[in-house]
Amino acid sequence: MGAEKSFDWKRLGDVAVGRDSMGGEMPVAVYRLMQYTLMDELKDRYGDEDAHEIFRSAGQRAGRAFAENLLDSSLPFNSFIAQLQQVLRDLKIGIMRIEAANMDTLEFSLCIEEDLDCSGLPVSGETVCWYDEGFIAGILKTYTKKDFVAVEVDCWSTGGTACRFEAHPAQKM
Ligand SMILES: [Zn+2]
Repeated sequence: MGAEKSFDWKRLGDVAVGRDSMGGEMPVAVYRLMQYTLMDELKDRYGDEDAHEIFRSAGQRAGRAFAENLLDSSLPFNSFIAQLQQVLRDLKIGIMRIEAANMDTLEFSLCIEEDLDCSGLPVSGETVCWYDEGFIAGILKTYTKKDFVAVEVDCWSTGGTACRFEAHPAQKM
């Protein structure tokens, strides 16, 4: 899953220079407007499953680039997770907690409160954080050097008040 070529972080540009008076932040709704209209466009063209997979795959690219550029994968696991939690909070992506971690099988259960993608969404009955699934898998892949799968099992859009993900290596240990 996911392309092997890393996203070049420099393509995000120098926001401080480019948005001299507007600054680096914008309303969450603007991000979601782009995200969900892009999803609709992909669904219309390729069908639901492929559209979800494209989001997962893009999220995976993002997760790898995020980990490579903003996190220190040489840290011990607990420190790495603490750093990840802090950066996710600083960037206002969400408030992450590891609920269970099995370091032998590399199976993780984690939840994200106030998630950027879906918190406050109306209930549709299906999880919608496909991008996050890839994002988490990409971060774990960068840290462990193993392909990962992350599946969202609870979401605002399924009636939860946080997103919950189960992650494990693509090939069972
Ligand atoms: Zn969600």
